[in-house]
Amino acid sequence: MEAYDVIVVGAGAAGMLAAGRAAELGGKVLLLEKMERAGRKILISGKGRCNITNDAPQSEFLKHIHPDSSFLQHAFDGFFSHDIIRLLGEHGCTTVVERGARVFPTSNKAADVVRALLQWVERHHVDIRYRHKVESLLIQDGQVAGLRVHTPHGSQSVHAKSLILCTGGKSYPATGSDGDGYRFAAAAGHGIETPRQALVPLETAGDSASRLQGLSLRNVNAVVWVDGKKTREEFGELMFTEFGMSGPIVLTLSRFVVDELRKKCHVELAVDLKPALNESKLDNRLLRDIHEYGTLRMEGLFRKWLPAALIPVFGERSGVAASKQGQQLSPAERRRILLLMKDFRFTVTGCRPFKEAIVTAGGVLTSEIDSQTMESKRVRNLYFAGELIDLDADTGGYNLQLAFSTGWLAADACMRRSD
Ligand SMILES: Cc1cc2nc3c(=O)[nH]c(=O)nc-3n(C[C@H](O)[C@H](O)[C@H](O)COP(=O)(O)OP(=O)(O)OC[C@H]3O[C@@H](n4cnc5c(N)ncnc54)[C@H](O)[C@@H]3O)c2cc1C
Repeated sequence: MEAYDVIVVGAGAAGMLAAGRAAELGGKVLLLEKMERAGRKILISGKGRCNITNDAPQSEFLKHIHPDSSFLQHAFDGFFSHDIIRLLGEHGCTTVVERGARVFPTSNKAADVVRALLQWVERHHVDIRYRHKVESLLIQDGQVAGLRVHTPHGSQSVHAKSLILCTGGKSYPATGSDGDGYRFAAAAGHGIETPRQALVPLETAGDSASRLQGLSLRNVNAVVWVDGKKTREEFGELMFTEFGMSGPIVLTLSRFVVDELRKKCHVELAVDLKPALNESKLDNRLLRDIHEYGTLRMEGLFRKWLPAALIPVFGERSGVAASKQGQQLSPAERRRILLLMKDFRFTVTGCRPFKEAIVTAGGVLTSEIDSQTMESKRVRNLYFAGELIDLDADTGGYNLQLAFSTGWLAADACMRRSD
């Protein structure tokens, strides 16, 4: 292969944006991808629908990015949600805004997002090579010289003025992102914040969750307790799984839970099954039903208050005999039921592996990357973009946007440099 102006490693969201933008600005660009096609992760994003970005204003958007959203200010100023929406639209992928300002392709097909991005990249004559796995970076005198790549015909060196690393994190490794970029960055002298699972299902103690497997609870409040202190809460939907809990609010809380577990803290997740009712209103409701249906056995009463699938586990935990009639319930038993409804608690023992984590927290330290350009502060002409960087976000389209924006900025900066 001949020499290039820019080599982009990884044809995911960040890599396609970086390659397309560098070529659009006149660069001779090589895009190397180890898989047999581009955008494997985009294809499975948003359950195959791809939540492309979020239509929230930038100030709101930044609140959903961790651990240091200010690092992205410049990248977002240069390329933001309306820019990716426009770019996709120009290439045949129109979008719609849904609940929570989430943006999806009108077709509901993630494949259309990949198709549009590839059309743009190809239109600007990016040289894309699939099944090309980068093995190492070539760095001379503190400056990028090129890289070694394993091709279907053997290994070879390729030279370029600039290199943009867009290799992603290490979650869902079957999509191609299995952590290679951390190795390249570390070999180039970069510090790496330990990669860890984020937006990941949690594992809980005992068999309660597995017995509730498949049950989905909407409009509940989940509270995280760490060493006996209430730390965070989220309102919305959760579900029980074979190993513990998942669903939107659990995924959102997981990023913080994983960090507490790493510190060896005792973590519990308490579900408020009746968040709309405070204790006194809930007690009135229980009293009213007990009065009205006093001859019903507890199983029947529970059915009025809870989803049927929850009752065996809930009944057991309440310690109230299922055969008891409502009118035989003591005040202490009624109180136990009430407290359990407001605080149905699970001890969190761990989280699911990287192959089930939607994103990876941790990565290349932002303190060693220039936020105005995405260039390494350690190696000249080496740039980073996307999930590889120590940034991650909540669900809602934020993760893809951060990949798009950083890819765009890295390409802009490396094509505009004067030396
Ligand atoms: C199931 C799931 C659903 C998701 N849904 C959404 C969603 O709806 N909205 C949202 O905003 N985010 C979502 N995300 C997160 C989002 O998809 C990622 O954060 C984003 O795709 C990261 O983009 P990236 O370009 O940084 O990395 P990736 O998309 O992971 O791309 C990295 C690329 O680099 C390639 N590569 C790696 N190493 C090498 C190497 N050595 N040589 C050559 N190529 C290499 C990989 O094969 C891969 O193609 C989801 C993630 C998952 C797993």
